[in-house]
Amino acid sequence: MKEKGSISIHTENIFPIIKKFLYSDHEIFLRELVSNAVDATQKLKKLASIGEYTGEIGDTKIEVSFDKKKSTITVSDKGIGMTGEEMKKYINQIAFSGAAEFVEKFKDKGDAKDIIGKFGLGFYSAFMVADNVEIVSLSYQEGAEAAKWECDGSTEFELSSAKKEGRGTDVILHVNKDSEEFLDEYRLKGILEKYCKFLPVEIKFGTKEESEPDGEDAEGKPKTKSVTVDRIINNPSPLWMKAPKDLTDEDYIKFYKELYPFSEDPLFWIHLNVDYPFNLTGILYFPKVKNDFELQKNKIQLYSRQVFITDEVKDVVPDFLMMLHGILDSPDIPLNVSRSYLQSDSNVKKISAHITKKVADKLQDMFKKDRKEFEKKWDDISIFVKYGMISDEKFYEKAKDFGLLKNTENEYFTLDEYKEKVKPNQTDKDSQLVYLYTSDRGKQDSFIQSAKDKVYDVLVLDSAIDSHFISNIEPKLEKTQVKRVDSDTVDKLIAKDEAMPSVLSKEEEEQVKSIFEKAINNTNMTVAVESLSPSELPVIVTMSEWMRRMKDMARTGGGGYAFMGNMPDSYNVAVNANHGIVQKIIKAEGEDQKVKLAKQAYDLALLSQNLLTGAELTSFIKRSVELVS
Ligand code: ADP
Repeated sequence: MKEKGSISIHTENIFPIIKKFLYSDHEIFLRELVSNAVDATQKLKKLASIGEYTGEIGDTKIEVSFDKKKSTITVSDKGIGMTGEEMKKYINQIAFSGAAEFVEKFKDKGDAKDIIGKFGLGFYSAFMVADNVEIVSLSYQEGAEAAKWECDGSTEFELSSAKKEGRGTDVILHVNKDSEEFLDEYRLKGILEKYCKFLPVEIKFGTKEESEPDGEDAEGKPKTKSVTVDRIINNPSPLWMKAPKDLTDEDYIKFYKELYPFSEDPLFWIHLNVDYPFNLTGILYFPKVKNDFELQKNKIQLYSRQVFITDEVKDVVPDFLMMLHGILDSPDIPLNVSRSYLQSDSNVKKISAHITKKVADKLQDMFKKDRKEFEKKWDDISIFVKYGMISDEKFYEKAKDFGLLKNTENEYFTLDEYKEKVKPNQTDKDSQLVYLYTSDRGKQDSFIQSAKDKVYDVLVLDSAIDSHFISNIEPKLEKTQVKRVDSDTVDKLIAKDEAMPSVLSKEEEEQVKSIFEKAINNTNMTVAVESLSPSELPVIVTMSEWMRRMKDMARTGGGGYAFMGNMPDSYNVAVNANHGIVQKIIKAEGEDQKVKLAKQAYDLALLSQNLLTGAELTSFIKRSVELVS
């Protein structure tokens, strides 16, 4: 038998168009051919399981090989195979018309390259790397004869009878000059490991020498002999395809290390298994992160029926969960469409919402089951949870019951618990609740101590996400203000009715104010004389909560506040009217001495907050030495 024919498609010579688009993604040809081989093998198994095929199944390993001299790459399977008629039908019609339709749809679109990268072109993608492709196949059907199909990517094909020993299909690519890079062991192995690592049928690539025990020699010493062992590329039954009830913690951790060899153990994981209204399996791991800089996006790998597709899961996974690690596998995620389509796809939206819900449920579960354990993990997971609370309303609704606040005593509270805790002592004269926090325990220590003297509680909110978290959560709390502990003097942070009387007369206050203004000599420092407790510091330098937040927003690029970035830092300087030093200043001999003492007290305040540097610091030290000696 020998037959020549023309493939009836409307677009003449689509190959050059596809080749142009696919420039950077040529390697996916192997993914497509191996996936077809897997499908053919699974179809055979299916037929056997329903009694449609009663022959031997035997070894079903798929074999990928290459021949550098002949410039060929061959993918062989022992699946259902195809008869000559079936090749005409499936290859000429499905494969070619699929490709033609694709080109028709996308040839005029600017983002075609983006689309095609995610597009499984199927069998036709072989022509990206081959001038000529042969298929030699023997169908599983009784009495079937082997057939060979050959084509150079144009619309002409040739079909002839062939010789083939066993059931299945060999696809032989005659690799073109531009694609010789693929005639290389490491390149091919790399591609197989990337895309085919978890395919459900064993894939063999090359063989390796190994030594095996071979009895004993004449002196009774053990002998070894060399044997060749198939090198299997893949793990055909990856963990996420198994039932959670059959798995131990060790299994999950081992699989994690298989995916991310040099990582620390994950904190915990979520095994996803949904089949309605969409299909989704996978395992999401919460990584242990040492600091914010370590957070890496694109660590989640997306699979479709165990075929690796991409590690860019943006749009499929909600942004705040991009930092998780693991695998998502879903045939329902459309991979053959553009990013903008993906964003509006309802399946993708549902999947994203489902993942959010599962993560929230898992966290809630852990919180309820073992609060102490949850608290131990909190510092590591708080970044995910806070990010989620900020960015996802649905997540917030759940997380508000298990999201925790930590104070300087390392105690943890839910939002509700914290409110109850501080209500009695931290409600101001206008019935506003005031939460105090520190962003840096070291630098803000004197303020923390002042707050503690008043039996106020101070939260620790010191990670990169916290300034966003605070401004996001504050409006959601009832009649509550959140203030950094150094944003005012302690009496004003939480203003109460009982005002501390001042020992100074109005005239004295004016005098003290002008002495300090002279000593400080900086218009960005606003001086006020306040009657604070005598045990407070003589001078306290603060930046108002409002000012600091605006500055923070300007720095992190918050829209509308950019102008603040260029403004100089301005501070409030509170002089404690009731402190002994102030009396000393008033009584000091001569203007110069008064100013010198005022400057000293002011510098001490700066020093306590790490604001005193350079020449200012040097002259402070000189002055201190003078004053002491
Ligand atoms: P798709 O796999 O998306 O249907 P392809 O272009 O990859 O499209 O393949 C077209 C058809 O050719 C397949 O549906 C299948 O029927 C047949 N086919 C391809 N490769 C094989 C194979 N290795 N064994 C048996 N049939 C195959």
